[in-house]
Amino acid sequence: MDQKLKEEVQSRKTFAIISHPDAGKTTITEQLLLFGGAIRQAGTVKGKKSGKFAKSDWMEIEKQRGISVTSSVMQFDYDGKRINILDTPGHEDFSEDTYRTLMAVDSAVMVIDSAKGIEPQTKKLFKVCRMRGIPIFTFINKLDRDGQEPLDLLAELEEVLEIDSYPMNWPIGMGKGLLGLYDNYHKKIEIHRPEENGGERFIDLNEDGEIEGDHPIKMSTLYDQALEDVALLNEAGNSFSEERVANGELTPVFFGSALTNFGVETFLNTYLDFAPSPTAHRDEDGEAISPYSDEFSGFIFKIQANMNPAHRDRIAFVRICSGEFDRGMDVTLARTNKKIKLGNSTQFMAESRETVQKAVAGDIIGLYDTGNFQIGDTLYAGKMNVQYEKLPQFTPEMFMKVNAKNVMKQKSFHKGVNQLVQEGAIQLYRTFHTEDYILGAVGQLQFEVFQYRMLHEYNAEVVMTPMGSKIARWIKPEDLDENMSSSRNLLVKDRHDQPLFLFENQFAMRWFADKYPDIELTSLL
Ligand code: GDP
Repeated sequence: MDQKLKEEVQSRKTFAIISHPDAGKTTITEQLLLFGGAIRQAGTVKGKKSGKFAKSDWMEIEKQRGISVTSSVMQFDYDGKRINILDTPGHEDFSEDTYRTLMAVDSAVMVIDSAKGIEPQTKKLFKVCRMRGIPIFTFINKLDRDGQEPLDLLAELEEVLEIDSYPMNWPIGMGKGLLGLYDNYHKKIEIHRPEENGGERFIDLNEDGEIEGDHPIKMSTLYDQALEDVALLNEAGNSFSEERVANGELTPVFFGSALTNFGVETFLNTYLDFAPSPTAHRDEDGEAISPYSDEFSGFIFKIQANMNPAHRDRIAFVRICSGEFDRGMDVTLARTNKKIKLGNSTQFMAESRETVQKAVAGDIIGLYDTGNFQIGDTLYAGKMNVQYEKLPQFTPEMFMKVNAKNVMKQKSFHKGVNQLVQEGAIQLYRTFHTEDYILGAVGQLQFEVFQYRMLHEYNAEVVMTPMGSKIARWIKPEDLDENMSSSRNLLVKDRHDQPLFLFENQFAMRWFADKYPDIELTSLL
């Protein structure tokens, strides 16, 4: 093993920030990029945010080329480490890609709005991280506003997400009364607005966990309250365990305010102490492949269509799992055994796309693709002969009936649907007997991308009829009796011919479960 390569790989920290829209992910990302010197001015990422556009303006967003691609992966150097932040879009951008991105990271940062607590999208993304057993770090944001009691927020973490928590620091006051953070981990107090509160930003704590001597903050009852809370937590709360953090069983919790840049730097520094370097990924037989292997390998977790009609190509995002990438290297595409020269590749920076020369395990590269790649594909160099484990499929929640507008164009319609389904852009179901096509997705944007790409890449205009949201549950073929199907639970089959019901709502599903108590219904992730 090459020692230099090992050091390079160990310097990588590749993670995603997960949150519900508006919790402050963009604001924190900006702060992190600022610390890394990757942007000079806050507001840069913000201005590019799709949230600025109306929902249906997805094409407008994509037209401003480079935007979504460059903000998909942000790379910068900080404190001797190379950081890769992978974006997990929210709002209307939410899609299966968002989930799959979590397959490509080594840890996750969960941002929670202190007033709103745990929201639906956070919960969904958390579930995927949990399934992978990756470390999850929590940042409770917007401390400059009045929010829920910190103890209640911890209780919510444990009850709703069923993860143990360990507060690394603790708020002293909140909203207008925010005085600082009691940093239990570093045994310091971090002062909010130090210019108004005694001058120093950090004050060391003495052996009793108190500020030595006089300080204005000690006059406040909020300080006493924080000391009391911390004492309670130290006594009755979880203890810190690096091993449990590494296994994703315990989440270190940090408080702060991204907007006023309070607590973010402390969070980043502490996070980097514990965030894992690239870990081994498993192949399809379950064998772990070391990231320090000399040979290059990686898998494709996302394919982004290029919406510029002048460039039909797409970009395939590769998570490097082992070895080193060199521009122009020859690799094998495991699915087809085809040799491919990786000449046309790109690396991602905060503000621009740059041509990548070299990248190692942990990094993400973008390959220009003219139709060779599918989501989940493995690429490897030399004789490695690896196929990484399949990416999971996610239970779709929204459905649309789809038809070719022009019956004369059935052929290109079917070709387009099949390719986009194979690529993982959307999921396909068919009704029993009549074989009507139904598309499934986790986010609305997937339908829009589908429609656009069908027209522009396959010259097939489609008619889509919304069916709204449904609950998809699979049933064992041997259990199936077609009379179980009703207007409230449509019977369909997936692309592997496995039967499933699309339930109208929770009520319809419960009704079914009551009527057929012995039938097991399952979902994907
Ligand atoms: P995202 O949707 O998770 O990316 O959230 P944004 O970063 O865009 O933030 C959503 C809104 O919350 C914006 O108006 C931010 O200015 C605001 N915001 C973010 N962080 C804070 C914070 O720490 N305090 C306050 N008061 N507002 C914040």
